[in-house]
Amino acid sequence: MRTCPVCSCRFPNFYPLGRSYLETAHRLNVHYSMEDYETLNVSQYSCPECAASDRDRLYALYAMHMLNNPDGTVLRILDIAPAPVLSGFLRSLPNARYRSADLFSPMADDKVDIMDMNLYTDESFDLIVCSHVLEHVRDDAKAMSELYRVLAKGGSAILMVPILLTATETDEDPDEPSVDERWARFGQDDHVRMYARHDFLARLEQAGFHVDALGTGAFGEGVFKQHGITEQSVLYIGRKA
Ligand SMILES: [Zn+2]
Repeated sequence: MRTCPVCSCRFPNFYPLGRSYLETAHRLNVHYSMEDYETLNVSQYSCPECAASDRDRLYALYAMHMLNNPDGTVLRILDIAPAPVLSGFLRSLPNARYRSADLFSPMADDKVDIMDMNLYTDESFDLIVCSHVLEHVRDDAKAMSELYRVLAKGGSAILMVPILLTATETDEDPDEPSVDERWARFGQDDHVRMYARHDFLARLEQAGFHVDALGTGAFGEGVFKQHGITEQSVLYIGRKA
């Protein structure tokens, strides 16, 4: 049996990744396979009960088991471009003081451009979730430095992007005009880059973060499998010393 850490339901399997995404990748003859992504479970993708993706489940596991949040301490959370199911989960964490931010979504609490988050003062959040946002942003160095600025000392930022394990260099072009080219090179119509792993980490460190790469060993044997997360998945946590 598998368990979803977001909704706590149990069932034999998660749903696979939607066919339309796979068909688009196939049509464009992309040079990589979906299995080349570091954190993506193609065959056990979404929760049949709450629709949480494998990465949502990874963040929920981290928040439940590895976040240092002793009882009574207020946890100031900033959720950037919130995913609906995970948003509800984060709001329900003990002592959470939750804000969500998005440039476009009317569902978010605050309308914020991640490259200029002047709405928030320095060091005002203990937990930041920034998942699959930076690959959309024209100037990711600016965005990373803003994330670092608003993170409190001792805080944690979940910093995740699609990482292609076969890529040796980051491929980026915010001005690529062709939709098909954007799909083929960056993995999606509205992405402006595809990160190579070493380069993503270097950029985060350049912004000031100490980065922890938490793989299956950090969570304990069998934990990833039980929650439908592939063994090659890695959670990146940016810390501010
Ligand atoms: Zn679920």
